[in-house]
Amino acid sequence: MHRLRYIQTLLPLRLKWEPFYSYSEEQLPGSIAVGDRVRVEFGGKEYVAVVTAVDAEDEAGAVGYDRIKPIIGPAEGLDRISQEETGLWRMVSDYYLCTPGEVYKAAYPAGKVEEEEVKARVKDRLQERIARLEEKIAKARREDTKKRYIAQRDVLLRQGHCPGAVLSRSEARMDAATDRWPAAIELSDAQSEAYSKIKEILNNRKPALLRGVTGSGKTEIYLKLAAETLARGKNVLYMVPEIALSRQLEDRIREHFPTELIVFHSGETLAKRADAAAHIKSDPYLALGTRSSLLLPHKDLGLVIVDEENDPSYKQDNPAPRYNGREAAIMLAGLHGAAIILGSATPSLESLYNCSVGRFGLIELNTRYFQAEDSDVEIIDTIAERTKNGMVGSFSRKLIDRINDCLEKGGQVALLRERRSYSPILQCEECGTIPKCDRCDAALSLHIKDNGESKLVCHYCGRVKKYLGTCPKCGGSLKPLGAGTQKIEEEASSLFPGAKIGRLDSDSARSRKHESEIIRGFANGEIDILVGTRMVAKGFDFSGLSLVAVIQSDSLLGQQDYRADERALTLLEQFRGRCGRRTEKGMFVVQTSQPDHPVYQALTGSLSDTESMTKLLSERKLFGYPPYSRVINTVLRDRNAARLELMSRSLAEILVKALEDKVKVIGPYSPAIDKVGGENIKIIRILLPKNKFLKTNKAALEEEVNVFESGRKYSGHISLDVDPV
Ligand code: ADP
Ligand code: ZN
Repeated sequence: MHRLRYIQTLLPLRLKWEPFYSYSEEQLPGSIAVGDRVRVEFGGKEYVAVVTAVDAEDEAGAVGYDRIKPIIGPAEGLDRISQEETGLWRMVSDYYLCTPGEVYKAAYPAGKVEEEEVKARVKDRLQERIARLEEKIAKARREDTKKRYIAQRDVLLRQGHCPGAVLSRSEARMDAATDRWPAAIELSDAQSEAYSKIKEILNNRKPALLRGVTGSGKTEIYLKLAAETLARGKNVLYMVPEIALSRQLEDRIREHFPTELIVFHSGETLAKRADAAAHIKSDPYLALGTRSSLLLPHKDLGLVIVDEENDPSYKQDNPAPRYNGREAAIMLAGLHGAAIILGSATPSLESLYNCSVGRFGLIELNTRYFQAEDSDVEIIDTIAERTKNGMVGSFSRKLIDRINDCLEKGGQVALLRERRSYSPILQCEECGTIPKCDRCDAALSLHIKDNGESKLVCHYCGRVKKYLGTCPKCGGSLKPLGAGTQKIEEEASSLFPGAKIGRLDSDSARSRKHESEIIRGFANGEIDILVGTRMVAKGFDFSGLSLVAVIQSDSLLGQQDYRADERALTLLEQFRGRCGRRTEKGMFVVQTSQPDHPVYQALTGSLSDTESMTKLLSERKLFGYPPYSRVINTVLRDRNAARLELMSRSLAEILVKALEDKVKVIGPYSPAIDKVGGENIKIIRILLPKNKFLKTNKAALEEEVNVFESGRKYSGHISLDVDPV
């Protein structure tokens, strides 16, 4: 008779506790260690669980041995989970009020990765490196250099015969050292000064916030820090808010770190993930990616970079874990004892606040690398222009002239329109009906496919309908209200027939290849005018870009949120920073129907950055908004609107009673789009003061919501969103 042994496990579920399982020594002769993965049954389904405790005889006994099920078996071929990984999952779940299991699930999406597929990828990677070496062998001028390359190639060729083999660390390092093309990083004086200040802050084990004007060369500083980290034998994580942004960076980073670079995003295939994990396990690496790259099985991290740290895309809305990549990156760096640097031209208020209380160190870099001046700003009042017959479709004549001027001088133009599709809203000319999605409280957008076919798309649930051109109510004809990026692209091609036009939005970016082509095409001057959503405003570096314009800037303003204006300003500043990045001064045009809006005043420089920040912070303090408090949204979803109304009110009452007096409970209120995918939505916003009760209040909130949800057999769904964006 073999003895039964007991373990505790973490399941990829929304489960508040960690179940016990048993195994016999016969079933698993080798012993099980913390971090190993085992297959278990839970609630009639099979899961791959992570072992979080071994030798748990006593704890299991307290539960009752007869209630504990045996494991199904070991999970063959899966890597062990490190303590840093589970540590991160616990910290993230603690902060964002979800379960470690939900973070585990996000980090290790279920599904089968065929070993063959991974092997094929590893082989591809080898092949790529071999091809690169062949190229260098052909180009090498000196005999000894040539010999070295040949020797390296032969090592790789041998490995190619046993697919699955990955380069050993030392070989890879030797390779990397000689593989570096002449792309040394030479910092300017201003950059060097910032760099030494950063080093000082990092040596004091504090996060560093680099506030550098656009074009100041923050990227170059990151790369220098990265080079140094890799040289110390530590690894680097470089985070960007958006996939599109990494495309351009990819090329820039590869120049310096051709063999170390790993590119990883959410939505990447399981095989790609397994390949990234294999690289991390065996080679020095620099991982470049969006927030989900945090959840890779990192090893020996020495440096974490969070570029454009203020970007709202770092926040995950749905599903859980609803985490912010910036905050989670700080946790990750802490767990590895790694340095962390956050960078932006327009840092988040949260980070500036952290600097003001001494939690972060602030470094400012105010000179541009190419000494260009701030671009000029012109605000065009579209209503006034329309009355003067100064508009041609979505373009004002003033803007058209500017664009023609710019193109004539050989410059490039970027146009921002914050709505994708051909037309974001349609309206019936007869009865005024606006066709909406059946399942969402949102207007349907008209999209025109490449083959000319039209369809109606709901941007909230993704549902697609056939477009018939007639009103669903009265049969009258539908007319587009306003133009989306597709329409702007079309208008631009008829207004500027000689120009080559490209479009960048999440529709056109769906194919990775196409997206890269557009970005490269614009970077090398093949494309003259780039039309796109806010994607075009992100941290790209296009040297020929001298005019940027916002088409209907109004859509950036006036959302019902205390941060809408800040956001709009940040986005506009960021977009402005895309042009005139070399020596010539750029031009920034904004077309709007509200030219007097304070956001534009801030843009034209009536308030300095520091002044407007101080003003914002004092407003936030006055109203008890973040960073002076912590916001948690309690989001209720229910198919039944009447029940939702009742339930959300009674939950709000319970919360008011249960939480400390200083906690503000706002709502329930309906969000701007209060029905999505057939579910009605209500939000109760909780403002928790940052005092010594913060932790207890947070725990109380979570507890009350759990009791409410389970106790009432509530058939709707409640989720908590910490630091919503
Ligand atoms: P930021 O990220 O701060 O907006 P970038 O890092 O993109 O700025 O730099 C702007 C431009 O200046 C880029 O084209 C970059 O290649 C160039 N640049 C910045 N610093 C250096 C440097 N030290 N050596 C060479 N080029 C640099
Ligand atoms: Zn919908």
